[in-house]
Amino acid sequence: MKGNEIAALLDEPACGHNGKSKSGCSAPKPGATAGGCAFDGAQITLLPVADVAHLVHGPIGCTGSSWDNRGSHSSGPTLYRLGFTTDLSEQDVIMGRGERRLYHGIKHIVERHQPAAVFIYNTCVPAMEGDDIEAVCRAAQAKVGVPVIAVDAAGFFGSKNLGNRLAGEVMVNKVVGTAEPAPWPADAAIPAERGHSIGLIGEFNIAGEFWNVQPLLDELGVRVLCTLSGDARFAEIQTLHRSELNMLVCSRALINVARKLEENYDTPWFEGSFYGIRDVSTSLRTIASMLHDPDLQARTEALIQREEAAAEAQLAKLRPRLAGKRVLLYTGGVKSWSVVSALQDLGMTVVATGTRKSTEEDKARIRALMGEDALMLDEGNPRTLLDVAYQYKADLMIAGGRNMFTAYKAKLPFLDINQEREHAFAGYNGMVELARQICLTLESPIWSQVKQRAPWQ
Ligand code: SF4
Repeated sequence: MKGNEIAALLDEPACGHNGKSKSGCSAPKPGATAGGCAFDGAQITLLPVADVAHLVHGPIGCTGSSWDNRGSHSSGPTLYRLGFTTDLSEQDVIMGRGERRLYHGIKHIVERHQPAAVFIYNTCVPAMEGDDIEAVCRAAQAKVGVPVIAVDAAGFFGSKNLGNRLAGEVMVNKVVGTAEPAPWPADAAIPAERGHSIGLIGEFNIAGEFWNVQPLLDELGVRVLCTLSGDARFAEIQTLHRSELNMLVCSRALINVARKLEENYDTPWFEGSFYGIRDVSTSLRTIASMLHDPDLQARTEALIQREEAAAEAQLAKLRPRLAGKRVLLYTGGVKSWSVVSALQDLGMTVVATGTRKSTEEDKARIRALMGEDALMLDEGNPRTLLDVAYQYKADLMIAGGRNMFTAYKAKLPFLDINQEREHAFAGYNGMVELARQICLTLESPIWSQVKQRAPWQ
């Protein structure tokens, strides 16, 4: 990856930060790579592609520190759960054996696992050594006969977010447009003439949550050609150029992909969310309206009416247990506003929300939902979070797993909302599950017990 290519990615015209400066979303601070380097960002973006072998070219520590830390589920192949690395040692570096180890690593993987493709992730050590991984990938591909794709996003290139974009860029430049979609499924609810094909960008199927939404789209006759990258297959990414519309589910990670697909293939795109009843319905309506199909719009309205009524019937039992409860929300990106709207739908008050990873558009949406004086937390160190929780009398903290012990030490109920979560919160069913999990968390008997004096005190 050349310096000017990296600079071009930081100058993303579709990103709101661009109005302020050309510095990208967040400049890495000293020590910040502990939260994810560019390699980590690239790997986390593509790892959910289930039938691909993901080979990390570098010392084993690069693989070990970030492998499989996003709970994306697959409906089929499980190859993506295997960790592959060239395990470069000091001797390999001194003797210049990196490229040879990579070539043999690719051959070994293809012989033993027959992947649909092999993705090679570059890391700092071979990048500094000057390994020509593009040349090795070309030679290996000619030998093994399956696509071998170099993802050149070494850790020192920049932040995790830059790595997300680099990975997306590689997919657009090297994979999209290299195959045609499968024929329209014969058993589909809607025949091919009335059907549409779309793409979902930045949907990672955490805890299998996209499966709450997929059946609805199937019923509407909207085929998801590819999700980038939750539960994706390599062959699906190849067909993304045929999508009639792309929905950007996580803007921060892959906004460059949506923009480039529009530039290259004239595919319109919009940003939406599948969290919260309001937002699921809005996203479905937007899909139908942007496809300019009145029949689909009518079908969508009927489906929304049915699904909202079914979800409301279930939520009605839970609402009294949640009404008036105060939540401190500390998450990032699209969730910083979409979960606010989901919690407000449940009658809860969000006292503050985290914006560390949010774009300018995300922040504008937060203001629209919570008012101009919305408390947005750019920094979420434990002291700040607890001060806010005490000051605003929060009953519950909803945040990523790394904040769990902060909440538990303060005897504050906690629910994990980030990538390590075990519950699917997307779609109408996901909203009911979110409400149920909040009830279970708030009403756990542990809180009254830990607040009591110990018998010996
Ligand atoms: S790629 Fe570089 S910064 Fe990232 S984990 Fe490996 S050595 Fe560390």
